[in-house]
Amino acid sequence: MKKYIILLCFVCQNAFAQLPTPDHISKHIYKLASDKMQGRGTGSKENKKAAKYVAKQFKQYGLQPKGTDGFYQPFTAKVRRVVVPDSLRETNNVIGFLDNGAENTIIIGAHFDHLGLGRQGSSKAEKPEGQIHNGADDNASGVAGLLELARYFSQNNVKEPYNFLFIAFGAEELGLLGSRHFVNNPTLPLDKINFMSNMDMIGRYDASRGVGIGGFGTSEEWPDIFKGVKSETKFFTDKAGSGGSDHGSFYAKKIPVLFFHTGGHDDYHKPTDDPEKIDYKAAAGILGIQIQLIENAMKLPKLKFTTVL
Ligand SMILES: [Zn+2]
Repeated sequence: MKKYIILLCFVCQNAFAQLPTPDHISKHIYKLASDKMQGRGTGSKENKKAAKYVAKQFKQYGLQPKGTDGFYQPFTAKVRRVVVPDSLRETNNVIGFLDNGAENTIIIGAHFDHLGLGRQGSSKAEKPEGQIHNGADDNASGVAGLLELARYFSQNNVKEPYNFLFIAFGAEELGLLGSRHFVNNPTLPLDKINFMSNMDMIGRYDASRGVGIGGFGTSEEWPDIFKGVKSETKFFTDKAGSGGSDHGSFYAKKIPVLFFHTGGHDDYHKPTDDPEKIDYKAAAGILGIQIQLIENAMKLPKLKFTTVL
């Protein structure tokens, strides 16, 4: 009897312990959106600190470095929206690979940069300069999601029929610069990418709206893949494959995409986008939906791209 109970618990743990949890998500968001991170502005030393935090988790999950300098893919970003003396800024994408020995790869991404101290443009604060723009929803929430999915797929004891490339993009807030740098300098061939799934702002779930899932029109297979997805977290689909965030860079290269987004709010691009305003339970629910979609998609051959008209 004792033996049986122990065996049962072992099975439970393997089946359930790996799913994304509100606690893990909260730990990552409180870290990345703390005042210590100074809003993760592109070119700042805190932006590098945030990149290092992501690389450290990737390493812990046993991912292979797939940048051009270990986990990092350095590039120079240019500030164009405001005139500043230091318009050229060094930053990185952070890239980890889960090699399942498959021919094709699924990309999961989220940008880790935000507006720093409000001196790089696009803040909605009245006097942004010098204020910490913590960016808890935008986009510490997406990075927390990225890390939880990396943990899930690397620790679930399943060898999936696709490889995974996990990318934390730099300089999204300056105009999708990190994702554009990646698609123009890919560290694995673009024609071996099945699809790209992006998270940007998944922390402000509103039950009356639900989470928006974009990219529904970028492959004719998405409608079948969405069939049977079950969740207490409400969602709706949107056909568009571009607009608003890094998935647009992949769509432009004719790669099917998904885009998870809980919508705009009063704290958007303001210093008040803080961790205590995040709905952690719903964020975990959104990751649960994403896992179901990815697992459904992996039952099919590589998706065919469709242009959204
Ligand atoms: Zn964002």
